[in-house]
Amino acid sequence: MDQVIERVLLTEVEIQKKVEELGAQISADYEGKDLLVVGILKGALVFMADLIRAIQIPVTIDFMAVSSYGQGATSSGAVRILKDLDRAVEDRHILIVEDIVDTGLTLNYLLDNLRSRGAASVKVCTILDKPNRRTIPIEPDYNGFVIPDEFVVGYGLDYAEKYRHFPYVAILKREVYER
Ligand code: 5GP
Ligand code: MG
Ligand code: MG
Repeated sequence: MDQVIERVLLTEVEIQKKVEELGAQISADYEGKDLLVVGILKGALVFMADLIRAIQIPVTIDFMAVSSYGQGATSSGAVRILKDLDRAVEDRHILIVEDIVDTGLTLNYLLDNLRSRGAASVKVCTILDKPNRRTIPIEPDYNGFVIPDEFVVGYGLDYAEKYRHFPYVAILKREVYER
């Protein structure tokens, strides 16, 4: 166990089982449709890589990178696009893949933004959901796990760009934040 970890919330095995289930559900729902999976960098990288291999229908992929203006809890809700999609998405069925939905500000922005480009449909798949923190009433269409209001890392999620590579989702020791 890594020295910085207080507690593992979700093991690698639990996560993989859930991703298989999500992949099966998405495959059934999008059967016969032209599906574009859009990963939100960097947090969704690990989940996206697993999810597209669990989806059993042909997909194409693209990525966006966004950052919120303001700091953490004081975020204004404005989102800045750091990297946009490579191609137009008119008439495509888009599935946004995000690591976590917390306040909902990021996903709310992305949904509005992609819908305004004339996509045929835009849905959201997250691996983690912290519903207690929501400021915008938005629910992912697909979600892996509802988690408590704790700051988590691993499976793509970082603290100061670290710990994304942990294969599990964990709560950090308090001293990691305070040192
Ligand atoms: P929202 O816009 O829903 O408030 O925030 C979504 C973003 O905040 C996520 O994509 C993620 O980057 C970050 N975030 C929210 N909760 C956590 C958490 O518990 N751990 C980490 N590492 N990032 C989080
Ligand atoms: Mg994210
Ligand atoms: Mg982050």
